[in-house]
Amino acid sequence: MSDCLFCKIVNGEIPSNNVAEDEKTLVFEDINPKAPVHLLVIPKEHIDYKDSEIDYSIFGDLMAMAKKVAKEKGIDDGGFRLILNSGPDAGQEVDHLHLHVLGGTSLGKMICI
Ligand code: 5GP
Ligand code: ZN
Repeated sequence: MSDCLFCKIVNGEIPSNNVAEDEKTLVFEDINPKAPVHLLVIPKEHIDYKDSEIDYSIFGDLMAMAKKVAKEKGIDDGGFRLILNSGPDAGQEVDHLHLHVLGGTSLGKMICI
């Protein structure tokens, strides 16, 4: 999608600090990290989670990649959190599907309000 920030990152039009990629997914550092490790795991294809018809099999790839990069960043032993924001009440900024991988410190319990 031409005006999508994360599609531009996939295409290399906007610079990013990439951590890993495979055929279907890309992982890069969040520009405004909320934890010592804050990565974004995205499908290379533009997918909007809010759309009614999406291929949910991509979640297998995203979850596997999230676990792989958590291990590579050394946060798998201490633990980490995955977040998917959907819609305005969740503060979603970018419509391109993404998982936040947060870790590297004690994150406390669930984040709400
Ligand atoms: P959302 O709120 O949509 O779940 O998360 C979007 C995330 O994208 C935010 O955490 C924000 O910091 C991050 N972000 C926004 N613009 C950029 C950018 O240009 N580069 C990178 N690497 N991250 C970005
Ligand atoms: Zn996109």
